[in-house]
Order: sequence, then structure tokens, then C-alpha cells
Amino acid sequence: MKSDLIRPEIAALPTYNAGLALDRFRARYGIDCLAKLDSNENPAGPCPGVVDAIRDEAAGIARYPDAGNGALREDLAAATGSTTDRLIIGNGSEDLIGAVFRTVLRPGDHVVTICPSFGLHEFGALASGAHVTKVPFNADWSFPVEGMIRAMAAEAPRVLMFSSPSNPAGPAISADEFDTLLTATPPDTLVVFDEAYLEYLDPAARFDAMARLEAGPNPWLILRTFSKAYGLAGIRVGYGIACDPDLAAQMMKARNPFGVNALAVAAARAALRDADHLAHSVTRAAEGRVQLARHLSQAGFACAPSQTNFVFFDTGRTATDFAEALRHKGVLIKPWLEEPYTRWARVTIGTEEENRRFLAAVEGIHCPA
Ligand SMILES: *Cc1c(COP(=O)(O)O)cnc(C)c1O
Repeated sequence: MKSDLIRPEIAALPTYNAGLALDRFRARYGIDCLAKLDSNENPAGPCPGVVDAIRDEAAGIARYPDAGNGALREDLAAATGSTTDRLIIGNGSEDLIGAVFRTVLRPGDHVVTICPSFGLHEFGALASGAHVTKVPFNADWSFPVEGMIRAMAAEAPRVLMFSSPSNPAGPAISADEFDTLLTATPPDTLVVFDEAYLEYLDPAARFDAMARLEAGPNPWLILRTFSKAYGLAGIRVGYGIACDPDLAAQMMKARNPFGVNALAVAAARAALRDADHLAHSVTRAAEGRVQLARHLSQAGFACAPSQTNFVFFDTGRTATDFAEALRHKGVLIKPWLEEPYTRWARVTIGTEEENRRFLAAVEGIHCPA
């Protein structure tokens, strides 16, 4: 290809480290994947109402969907206490991560996040020509609030973006830490708080992030998704709550007008109506993360504390080797590729059967200690 065709920011990006789809696993390893634990999907699947809603909606797909996603925004306004004009729907919340970066970032801008980080928080910023400071978690896996404040003092960022509970590490920021961080954030910085795992957070660790953001001077955006606890990863729908209608309206111009399809909207609306399925999914994940962390710790693998549907642990060797050994046993987890966490891997809480298969497969691999 002509050498100057591709923008250098894009050419320099790595390919996204996405999970391995089941058919590709089979083609590559010659066996069925018996425990797909690499992408933080809900092992219970979507609630039954979602499948019905998609079927009911299917006959209507000759029509374009509502570009403004009005019906889903009304449902979400009722569910979140926001107003419809501050809500924005995306083709997954990753769509909104891209949209917000395209909306605000100029080449040379500074973005601050944490490390280990959710890949798109970094890559989306790099793609827009920004430079990114990734602040490592504290050694005890508390949020690196002091480090983030230092990074913001060194150069005021256009965007501060991180997830809590964190993917891939698992811990959640406390209310006090959040307040300390917000107080020290330069007032013009856009705070993007990614709550993809909010539903899994222990009730005792919850706080009203929206109210705290609203009380401060910063512009802000909260991101949530139907891909995790609601079990809709394959249909792609997430949403944002913006500090004001203008930010939502400007972001709408930076995404595809019909990027959220009619089936996804029907699925999300149905998912919101089934509180039991959500509660059940969250309870199972909370039990599973305790059980997996206990077994892994007993076997000598250090684990980060988790408030999510996964556990991040030190494999004691190059994580890609460890994950590859598990793949040959039909178990799929996600080895981390980001320095200095390349010995760490993330395992999603699956069904009891999948969790057992994972632990049995790990037992066959030599313990690091
Ligand atoms: C999974 C995830 C998302 C988004 O997923 P979508 O499927 O695009 O909604 C966003 N942020 C974090 C931290 C995630 O783990």
C-alpha cells in the first residue's frame, strides 16, 4: 500500500486483543471449547423476554430504526433517574468510547487512565492523536488516586477515563477515593466513568457517582452496557449518561446515525424489564468470583480482589503460555498482553460446570510457587 495512505496514528495501533469466537476456537484447536471464559459474558445468557422481543421485532426490520432511539432512552431515563436528553445509546458502549474521543480530542491532547487498562480507553485516544498516561494500580490493588492526580497535575488532560469496577483488574473505586480524585481533577477535564460492571458491585461498595459528578465543576459522561450482566454482548447495545444535553447531542454527530439496530433496542428494553434475571446473574457471579479466587489462591496464584464477573490472577509465567496450555484442554481465558501485567490473566465466572473445568485444567499445570 502507498506508504503515506494510512494515518500514522492508525498504522501504529496494535490489532485489538478480542476474545476468540467459538467457531474459530474449534477450527484452531480441533476440539470444542468447553468453557469460554475470555470475554466476561453472562453464562446464563439473555433473559427469555429478550429472545421473544427480538422475534417480535424481526418482521419490522425493513424499516430504519429510530435514529434517536427514543423509546429505549425513555426506559433508561426511568431506570437511571437521568433525563432523556442526556442519554445516548451506542452500538455497545465501545461505540460511545470512540464517539466521545472523536467529539473532544485534538491531536496532541493528553488522556489519563489506569493500568492495567481496558484496551479501548487507550487505543481510542491514540487513534485520535492524543497521548495517554496509564497510571498503574497500587500494589494492594487500591485505585492509584495519588498517581492519577500527579499525572493530571503534570499536564491537564482533556479526558480522564477509567472503569470501576475495573476491567481487567476487578477492584472498584471507593466513594472517598472518587471524591478525592474529582476534587483534584482540572475543572475543564472531561471525566468519563465507565461502569460496565456496575451491576456486579457489592451493595455495600456502591455510591451515587452521578450525584457526585453533578456536584462538581467538570463535564462528565457515565458509560454502561447491556453486554455484561444483562447477557446481550452479541447484539451490541450500551448507553451513556452525559452531564448535559449538549454533550449528548454533540456526541450524536460523531457516531453513525443508525448505529443501533432495531433488534438491539427491542432486546435492551426487554432486558430492563427482567429484574429477576439480572439479580440471579449477579448473585451467581458474586458466588463464583469468591469460589474461583479461593481455589486459585490456595493453588498459589495471587488474585486481584474482584467486584465483577471475572478474576484477574498472576499465572506465575508468561500468561499467553499459560492460556495456551488451557486452550488445549478446551478452556478459554484471556492472557493479558500489557506490560507489566504479561504474567496475569483474566478468567470470567462461568457456569458451575465451566468453573470446575477451568479449575481442573489449572490443576494440571504446574503451580508457580
Ligand atoms: C465490556 C466493556 C465495555 C463495553 O462493552 P460493549 O460490549 O461495547 O458495550 C466497556 N468498558 C469496559 C470496561 C468493558 O469491560
